[in-house]
Amino acid sequence: MIAKKPFEIARETLKQLTVQKLAPTPLNYQRIYNEIAELPNEPIFPAERLRDIALALPTKTPGQQKQRGLLESSINQLNWDGVKNALMAYGGFSPPAPTPSTPVHVPVPEPTRVMALAVETPPSVVEAPALTADFFAQIARMIEYVQPALGSDDERFVEQTKTLLQTLRQPQTDAITAKQMLANYSNRLSFAAEDQAEIKTMLLKLLHLIIENISHLSLDDGWLKGQVDALMSVCVPPITLRRLDDVEQRLKDVILKQTEAKTHAVKAQEEMRQMLAAFIERLASMTETTSGFHTQMESSAKLIEQAKSIADIAPVLKEVVGATRHMAQDSQIARDALQGMKKKVEATEAELSKLHQELDRVSAQARHDPLTGALNRQGLDEAINREVSKVRRMDTPLCVSLLDIDNFKKLNDTLGHATGDVALTHLAGVAREVMRPQDTLARYGGEEFVILLPDTPLDRGIEAMARLQRELTKRFFLAGTEKVLITFSAGVAQLLADESGAQAIKRADQAMYLAKRSGKNRVLGA
Ligand code: GH3
Ligand code: MG
Ligand code: MG
Repeated sequence: MIAKKPFEIARETLKQLTVQKLAPTPLNYQRIYNEIAELPNEPIFPAERLRDIALALPTKTPGQQKQRGLLESSINQLNWDGVKNALMAYGGFSPPAPTPSTPVHVPVPEPTRVMALAVETPPSVVEAPALTADFFAQIARMIEYVQPALGSDDERFVEQTKTLLQTLRQPQTDAITAKQMLANYSNRLSFAAEDQAEIKTMLLKLLHLIIENISHLSLDDGWLKGQVDALMSVCVPPITLRRLDDVEQRLKDVILKQTEAKTHAVKAQEEMRQMLAAFIERLASMTETTSGFHTQMESSAKLIEQAKSIADIAPVLKEVVGATRHMAQDSQIARDALQGMKKKVEATEAELSKLHQELDRVSAQARHDPLTGALNRQGLDEAINREVSKVRRMDTPLCVSLLDIDNFKKLNDTLGHATGDVALTHLAGVAREVMRPQDTLARYGGEEFVILLPDTPLDRGIEAMARLQRELTKRFFLAGTEKVLITFSAGVAQLLADESGAQAIKRADQAMYLAKRSGKNRVLGA
C-alpha cells in the first residue's frame, strides 16, 4: 500500500470530521488524523504542567535535588516512564520492575548466594533481592562512582571502602557478610555525604565573601559592578557545573579588568609623583638663584650710589655683568630642564593613551557584553563549542535560538538611544529570569541575542522562546513616565548530527528572518 502524504491525510481528516458530524476540536482532529495515518493515538505530553509540578518540589537534600533533576530531564525527553520512576524515587519508593506479572514470593537466600531469580519480580513482594555476582559487581561499581564525590580526607573510610570493594568482588562472599558490611558502610557514608554537603555550603559562603569584597573595591566602575551583581546572582544554590563554569568565566573577566586597572593606576601615579618632585626641585633652585641675584643687585646698587669715581664703579659693574651672565646661564639651564620635563609629560601622556587602548583591547577579549552582562561573541563561541561537544558525547538534543528586537530603530529614534540601551538590558534581565539555569544567553549583535538551550528538542525550544515572548509582553519598563513594551522575532534550530554551532545559528537566523517577513513578534522553527 502506498503511504498517504500528510496533506492527503489532512484533507481526509477534515472530510471525516464533516461526515461523522464531529466538532472540529484539536482532540477530534488529532484522533481522526492518527486513525487515517495509522498512528497510535498518543495523548499530548503536558510538559508545561509537569514542569510546574517539578518546580514546586523542594530540593533540600542532595537526594531530592537528584530526583528533581531526573524528573526534569525525563520531562524534556517526553519520557512518561522516566517521569513515573523519578516521582516514585522522590517519594522514597523503588520504581517497579519492568514487566511485573503475578507476584512471586522468593525465599530469603540461604545460606549463600541465589542466582538470578528475581529479575522480573516486583520488589514490593520480595523480602530479599536476588544476590548474584552481577548484583554485587553492580554495587561495587556504584560505590566506585560515588567515591570521588566523598573526598579522601577520612583515611579510615577510604580503607573501609577498599575492603568492601574487595569483598564484593570475591566470588565466595555470602549475602549475610555483604549485608553487614554494606550496613556499616552506609552508616559511615551518611556522615561523609553530610560533610560534603557542609563543605559545599561553606565554599559557597566563602565565594560570596570574596565577590562581596571585590564589589567594595570596584564601586566606581559600572561594568565591574554589573559583573559582580551577576556573579552574586549566579552563585546561589542549586549549584550546577554549568553555573560554576559561568562563575569561573565571570571571575576571570573581573580579575583581568581589576589587574589591568590597577597596573594602569599605579603607573600613572608613579609618573605624576616623579614629575611633581622634579618640578618642586627646579622651582626651589630657581627661587634660590633669583633671590641670590636680587641680593647681589641690591648690594651693587648701594656700591654704585656710594661710588665717588668711575674707577670705583668699574669693579661693581664687572660683578653685575658676571652675576647677570650667571643668572642668564641658570635661566637657560632651567628652561632646558623644563623643556625636558615637558617632553617627558608628553611621553607619559602617549604612554597612558597606549595603556587605555590596551585596556580597551583587553576588555574586548573578555567574554561578557558590558551593557547587558550577557556573553559576547567570544563567550558565545566558547559556550557553543562546549555544548556541541556535549551533544556529540551524550547524544542529547540542543536548540539554538536567535532573536531580534522588533522595530528597535524606531524605539531609539522616538525615545532616545539611552532608552534603547535600557530596553536591551531589560530584555536580557527577563530572559535570564525566564530561562533555566543551564541555558546560555549571548548578545550576538546590536539588538540580536542568541540563546542556547541544552537538552531541548525543537518543539520544546520553540515553546521556551514563546514563553519568553509572553513574559516580555507582561513586563514593560518605564522611560520617564512612558510604559515601553518590547517584542521580538526569533528563529529556533535544533543542532543536526553533522552540523557546527555556527551553521545552526545561521539556520536560526534564516528562520528569524522569515518570522520578520511574516509579521514580526513570532517564533519560527528552522
Ligand atoms: P526589525 O524589526 O526589522 O528588526 O527593525 P529594527 O528597527 O529593529 O532593525 P534595524 O536592524 O534596522 O535596527 C537596529 C537598530 O539597533 C539600529 C541601531 O542603531 C540599534 N542599535 C544597535 N546597537 C545598539 C545599542 O547598543 N544601543 C542602542 N540603543 N541601539 C543599538
Ligand atoms: Mg537586527
Ligand atoms: Mg530589529
